[in-house]
Amino acid sequence: MTSYVFAPRPPVSVAIEGSKDRFPVHRIYCVGRNYADHAREMGSDPRRESPVFFTKPADAIVESGQPVPYPQRTTNLHHEIELVVALKGGGREIPADEAFQYVFGYAAGNDFTRRDLQQASRAAGQPWDTGKGFDRSAGIGLIKPATAGHAASGRIWLTVNGRQRQEGNISDVIWKVPEIIAELSTLFELAAGDLIYTGTPAGVGAVRKGDRIEGGIEGVGLVTHVIE
Ligand code: MN
Repeated sequence: MTSYVFAPRPPVSVAIEGSKDRFPVHRIYCVGRNYADHAREMGSDPRRESPVFFTKPADAIVESGQPVPYPQRTTNLHHEIELVVALKGGGREIPADEAFQYVFGYAAGNDFTRRDLQQASRAAGQPWDTGKGFDRSAGIGLIKPATAGHAASGRIWLTVNGRQRQEGNISDVIWKVPEIIAELSTLFELAAGDLIYTGTPAGVGAVRKGDRIEGGIEGVGLVTHVIE
């Protein structure tokens, strides 16, 4: 039996709707610029630029209902409501028409972003890690198993203190879930436990201490956080 110089951390995991078992998180992948209206509000041309991939550490997970302390080194923390895909299997070079067999389920998530740091990185041609991959930056609600079907359309929305900020439909994406899985699997070996944040519709904006951020996806679930 392996012994360690200090106790390893327990696995990061997410609650599953209708189950006492939890979903153990392996990696967190994210898609940028997957809704044309959000790509435009970020100053990109959705017809000319492919969606980009970036990652967050697995322990960036903050489950719905857990507090989110206002993060360090930013004055422009943004919300991004997103459909999250949870994988139960993976591999490399997965064909899009086989991708659904690797999907465990779906959740509503919030890709918290230090927009000031992300924009400075973008302008300097530097990596996005400080803007995107910080502590408690991956909000997520209950994972709904895909046993009843795959999330292809439905209203996606987000409110801050009850006022609507974001609204769209998950059918309005540039890249659909099977295409994202197929493309990602040409770059990384996907595995059970991976989460994929699939991009956000228009309306992203700043939140402050004390704000209550509620979001959801019709047919999938809800995600709620308070900034402390
Ligand atoms: Mn995002």
